[in-house]
Amino acid sequence: MVDIQNRLKDIKSTLPGDAVTLIAVSKNHPSESIMEAYEAGQRDFGENRVQELCGKYEALPRDIQWHLIGHLQTNKVRQIASFVSMIHSVDSLRLLEEISLQAIRHNRQIDVLLQIYIAEEESKFGLDQTEALDIIQHHSNFPGVRISGLMGMATNTSNEIQLRKEFSGLGHFFQQIKSSYFSDEVSFSVLCMGMSGDYKIAIEEGSNMVRIGSAIFGDRVM
Ligand SMILES: *Cc1c(COP(=O)(O)O)cnc(C)c1O
Repeated sequence: MVDIQNRLKDIKSTLPGDAVTLIAVSKNHPSESIMEAYEAGQRDFGENRVQELCGKYEALPRDIQWHLIGHLQTNKVRQIASFVSMIHSVDSLRLLEEISLQAIRHNRQIDVLLQIYIAEEESKFGLDQTEALDIIQHHSNFPGVRISGLMGMATNTSNEIQLRKEFSGLGHFFQQIKSSYFSDEVSFSVLCMGMSGDYKIAIEEGSNMVRIGSAIFGDRVM
């Protein structure tokens, strides 16, 4: 258990201060592990399954900021709409529309990231650039959501050149959207990329939010 707090401290020491937000990815780890990190000051946690997220939300302190980072089915949005801090995995207009509707039912706006497909693997979810631009051009139709930025998952590889290419591609796309559509607003500000194995490269390529699981909590146990 002490391990979690030590690992968290080690990772934080490698981040450039407040410029990068650390999301501790607690999926498949029990509430006790989350509390270890919580007691060390961590407040942002990421989960990828709605059921697990809801259970932990009920059980744990209310000042935790919960991030839904995995693929989200439209019919499950209402289960998290009252409390989720940010949804990282918006990969269709239909999903964005549902998040907006459910947010309005709860009199709130939900921060979302558009998940952009950057990996070479077939299996990863996400939008291509054309689809993302289409959503951004229509975002004023969805008053219940605030599009805070972009999220991407690189190919699962140790090839640094490949990782850098994927991250920098998303970094450029982010800057292009920001200057074309959000130049007068501070709202579009999050570029979320990087996990345990590749977050240092992601930060070098412009990431300002990282999602780190196994490097904090160890291998998944639940
Ligand atoms: C599990 C997961 C992570 C964290 O992965 P680690 O390699 O354990 O750091 C990050 N992002 C998403 C979307 C995940 O599902």
